[in-house]
Amino acid sequence: MRDIFGQPNFNSQRGLDGLKLVSRCPLCQTEHNPLETAVLDETEGAHLLFIRCQSCGSGVVAALTPGSYGLTSVGVVTDLNAFEIKTAKDWGRVSANDVLGVVEYFNHQSKF
Ligand SMILES: [Zn+2]
Repeated sequence: MRDIFGQPNFNSQRGLDGLKLVSRCPLCQTEHNPLETAVLDETEGAHLLFIRCQSCGSGVVAALTPGSYGLTSVGVVTDLNAFEIKTAKDWGRVSANDVLGVVEYFNHQSKF
């Protein structure tokens, strides 16, 4: 498995470097077409974007936030589509009880 997190275009960075995340696919390095970008949410100048790579089919969800030093971006590769991201965004944070529930579920499943 490739270490995509070590690539310079996949880190949260300031200024123009941060825009590389939304300009190129972090997996195959193909340049994204701006028409492939969907704005999923906009709040106080911050944007939540979803980009589907037409070359390899991977998706990137990224949050772009303007700051005093320029634009900051944080993103992650996902296999979700735009609709699933919009839905998951409203689920809220994962709590410790959520994690314990998953562990208990899998522990219960292994007994059969
Ligand atoms: Zn790609």
